[in-house]
Amino acid sequence: MNRRQFLASSALPLAIGCARREAKPATGVVTAADRERIRNDIVDREKHLLLREPCRVQLGAVRTTPKPGVDLLKELPELKVLLRVTQRLHPRFGDEPKPDFTKLGGQFLWPSAEAWPDCPTYRIPLVPVLQLRIEDAPAGFAFKPSTDLLQLLWSPRDPVNGVISSRVVWRKASSVGADLAAPPSLEHAFVGYVPVPCAIFPERVMEFPPLAIMPQQMRDTIQLGKPIAPDDYTNLLSASPGTKVGGWQRYAADGIGCPTCKHSMDFLIAIDSNEWQPSTAKRWKPTEDPDTEGHRSAAGFNFAKPNATVQVYMCRRCDAMPTTAILCG
Ligand SMILES: [Zn+2]
Repeated sequence: MNRRQFLASSALPLAIGCARREAKPATGVVTAADRERIRNDIVDREKHLLLREPCRVQLGAVRTTPKPGVDLLKELPELKVLLRVTQRLHPRFGDEPKPDFTKLGGQFLWPSAEAWPDCPTYRIPLVPVLQLRIEDAPAGFAFKPSTDLLQLLWSPRDPVNGVISSRVVWRKASSVGADLAAPPSLEHAFVGYVPVPCAIFPERVMEFPPLAIMPQQMRDTIQLGKPIAPDDYTNLLSASPGTKVGGWQRYAADGIGCPTCKHSMDFLIAIDSNEWQPSTAKRWKPTEDPDTEGHRSAAGFNFAKPNATVQVYMCRRCDAMPTTAILCG
């Protein structure tokens, strides 16, 4: 069965993208293919940086998501129970923010005396991906008690069975001194997994779940196509694309049971290759961004699948708050 046939036969047209694929990683070994990929990624990154140079955004700028073309709650008031607030982060290219700022990539607030974590599979250092201050998280986004800084790191290599080795660290920013650990060596990294340092321009946006994880009755209503076409719901009215915190996952994901308590984990963060796609630009391209590609993919991600998103989940039932990162899309 090819992909088109699979989708046609599926009762859940959005239940795509996050299925696990079998893979056998070469533990701790850098193969000839890896070396070629590392070289190619560096060439791509250099091109990316040249293209992004005219697209610098100054700290303090804002990004504004256009209002939806349809008042969904007026048309379908029963959806009100599904409404959630996400924080779109709008990462953009520019001068790297200070180490204690919310940011993608670059220098994190990490004490030099603290060991830097390695990927257990590939035995190379994890890389800094997102640092989030509590004031840049959406309302109701619970931090670990007594902390105000979240740091997401992951392995700069392709996922194994869909899962990227990752670590979420919670800190009290004021408890970290001035002596910081430098970002790790990227000698064996696939640079497409290492974000170009970006400032973020947070914006709170209301969103609704994708069809695949909606209650059946509401999904049936939208799939009837009146008053809203299902494609319009998916592209323009449901979950925001792009890098964001909280709200709804854009892709249904399987295998997100907590390793400790086995309950389903909560969606936490999406780190996206693109902030919008041509199909979603009408709704999700901020009004301040010009009609160029330069602002759409500032971080330069290039994952195992083109245009993919990494969705991070966390279990809030367990004190250790275990997390997992899954490549979707
Ligand atoms: Zn748990």
